[in-house]
Amino acid sequence: MRRIYLDYNATTPVHPEALKAMLPFLEANYGNPSSIHFLGREARAALDDARERLAKLLGGKSGEIVFTGSGTEADNHAIFGAVRARAGKARHIITSAVEHHAVLHSCEYLRDHEGVEITVLPVDGDGVVNPDDVSRAIRDDTALVSVMWANNETGALQPVREIGGICRERGVLFHTDAVQALGKVPVRVGDVPVDLLSVSSHKVYGPKGVGALWIRPRTKIESLVHGGSHENDHRAGTENVAGIVGFVRAVEITTAKVENEDTRLRALTERLWQGLNAGIERVHRNGPADRRVANTLNVSFAGCKSDALLMSLDLEGIAVSSGSACAVGSFKPSSVLLAMGLGAEMANAAVRFSLGAATTEADVDAVMNVMPKIVTRLRSFAV
Ligand SMILES: *Cc1c(COP(=O)(O)O)cnc(C)c1O
Repeated sequence: MRRIYLDYNATTPVHPEALKAMLPFLEANYGNPSSIHFLGREARAALDDARERLAKLLGGKSGEIVFTGSGTEADNHAIFGAVRARAGKARHIITSAVEHHAVLHSCEYLRDHEGVEITVLPVDGDGVVNPDDVSRAIRDDTALVSVMWANNETGALQPVREIGGICRERGVLFHTDAVQALGKVPVRVGDVPVDLLSVSSHKVYGPKGVGALWIRPRTKIESLVHGGSHENDHRAGTENVAGIVGFVRAVEITTAKVENEDTRLRALTERLWQGLNAGIERVHRNGPADRRVANTLNVSFAGCKSDALLMSLDLEGIAVSSGSACAVGSFKPSSVLLAMGLGAEMANAAVRFSLGAATTEADVDAVMNVMPKIVTRLRSFAV
């Protein structure tokens, strides 16, 4: 059976060159980077080199990178770390209604267990935050603003430059979850006034279980994990050398192709949308048509249920998602789509198509061709 993968926002395959870069550190060069001997020194050199290269790609310095065990951990580190370092003085966080759960649930935990107040900013119909709302929400005791760079469900790009500028002017820390932006748009810490920036390996053709947090120099931040002086005292634990090396190689490969892939994937997602819109009645595109990462298309098929659409596509060998992977199985409509003003029925009828490196025009055409039949069948059950 054919297999068409259109779920690159959930995860990506490891790029063969990233895998190749990793293998020596799983085989002959298995040293612990903290060991004094030659095996340790080899691993340390690889780790230092990877840190240097990632810093260069992000436009920062190597001492500003903390490798983590995931994008989720980088988000947690930024939020818990920044707020706890300001405990007593700053008791308020501003975030948005469309954040990944790694951000939203961290903020809610601080609210429920550590007496921090949170302001969750609304979004417009395209899922975009208004920078004026950030400005209005900032208080004397605001510790942190956390707004993502690109949304994982709709691809919407947030006005991070404007939001960062406001935060800078008001002396408030700004964190951005750039997990879905890295490798899809240029992500450079010199271009945007940001203090903390999270990225993840497996969304950019690196291995799973690796992420990084970039921390602006002199930013006070507490650690989450204690037990050693690894990662400049920011995160204890023997480093995942092979994973980190593969991650950084993947970022190099992916970021070098950003422009070409943007053009190619934008054309493919537009082709898919035009095809679906022409072939099926009562479809609705969720999120901005233009101000988005190129690979993501979110569509609601009125009168159908997301889970039924996903299962029907799965039977056709087409892998998609209904938005946040965390919402799968819980049959709850996406909180991102609800925040954009979709009714429960349309939010429950959404499919996220996220394209990537291996996606071809033939894949897109196959989806366009099979979709009308699936939607017609599901709608006939729904009467
Ligand atoms: C995938 C994702 C994360 C979490 O990254 P993991 O490495 O899977 O923990 C965080 N934020 C966004 C926007 C994501 O898409």
